[in-house]
Amino acid sequence: MARIVMKFGGTSVADLDRIRNVARHVKREVDAGHDVAVVVSAMAGKTNELVGWTRGASAMHDAREYDAVVASGEQVTSGLLAITLQDMGVNARSWQGWQIPIRTDSAHGAARILEIDGSDLIRRFGEGQVAVVAGFQGLGPDNRIATLGRGGSDTSAVAIAAAVKADRCDIYTDVDGVYTTDPRIEPKARRMKKIAFEEMLEMASLGAKVLQVRSVELAMVHKVRTFVRSSFEDPDAPGMDDFANPPGTLICDEDEIVEQEVVTGIAYAKDEAQISLRRLADRPGVSAAIFGPLAEAHINVDMIVQNISEDGSRTDMTFTVPTGDLDKALTVLDAAKPAIGFDAVQSEPGLVKVSVIGIGMRSHAGVAATAFRALAEKGINIKAITTSEIKISILIDSPYAELAVRTLHSVYGLDKS
Ligand code: ASP
Ligand code: MG
Repeated sequence: MARIVMKFGGTSVADLDRIRNVARHVKREVDAGHDVAVVVSAMAGKTNELVGWTRGASAMHDAREYDAVVASGEQVTSGLLAITLQDMGVNARSWQGWQIPIRTDSAHGAARILEIDGSDLIRRFGEGQVAVVAGFQGLGPDNRIATLGRGGSDTSAVAIAAAVKADRCDIYTDVDGVYTTDPRIEPKARRMKKIAFEEMLEMASLGAKVLQVRSVELAMVHKVRTFVRSSFEDPDAPGMDDFANPPGTLICDEDEIVEQEVVTGIAYAKDEAQISLRRLADRPGVSAAIFGPLAEAHINVDMIVQNISEDGSRTDMTFTVPTGDLDKALTVLDAAKPAIGFDAVQSEPGLVKVSVIGIGMRSHAGVAATAFRALAEKGINIKAITTSEIKISILIDSPYAELAVRTLHSVYGLDKS
């Protein structure tokens, strides 16, 4: 028999009926003889409400008290699921982060997990008990509750899976897997059977919001085989208990993927803003003078393109930030202008970044050329390009986003099964 961590998100535990449905999924695995730990999110919308209350109480609030408030949503659902399981005859108890304990660093509101002592959970698996763990929370070095950042219960689940050496971590959500692109844009998008950790990392950070990015990083480091699957399917439908091949998408080591496609998915991110600094001094330290102050202001810079200067004296630098941070970024750059030294700044909000992703790109030539040709044929202008070993990102005007996604999806044959 195996050991499984099952994680259920907010829409899966949104009310008592859904919690009962979750309990049926859990009971199925328990009845199959597996050791089970369950990680739950707060009920859908609850965390937003709690965050709103902390802001309403005071715009400038103590992050430790924010954590005391927002961690409570998961306390409620963990207790309710334990009660429901007990009512169905399953031996279960709830665990808060501090009880395990899940040790974190001191970054309240966006804490990182440092260590999990899984020994108590493992001992109780031996007694046939299901652990129902409140996601999103741990215990900081100051002995106070710390939360892991929005979407953090995915990370709780993967970390617990690593700590108890689970065979599998199942992330149950409101979609039935990871798709080759967003099915709302391209109905021909297909559910992937498998995706490599590195590809998923790109898909997750590029706007395919299935999993918290940090959870994928953690799964990659600890090699936790992670399934994304639906909590809305009938818990007792045929195949749901298939241990090796449950319905959903497996996120795994690339070695496990035998038939590797060159391109596996197309992701997009809306609301990118572009900033160009014109005629910068081309000297050592100029990039540090730009991106240092932006980092200090907690502005997340994404694509960065610097041109090689024509005469060694002046160059241009273009980069993107979230549109919501554009005004702040411009203020920061204005203040840093004497230290940076540039002639002019140009910016544009509301752009879209479309990305082509696949580990097969490492060993295939011509992948980028195919994308550029396909976009050109549709008359889509490319504003900026960045690439990595396994990804090509293209910045375009937002009215072309859907056309670009569909065009790229089909040019790499992703709509053919
Ligand atoms: N409830 C938290 C949030 O909404 C954590 C999670 O759902 O993963 O961000
Ligand atoms: Mg989530």
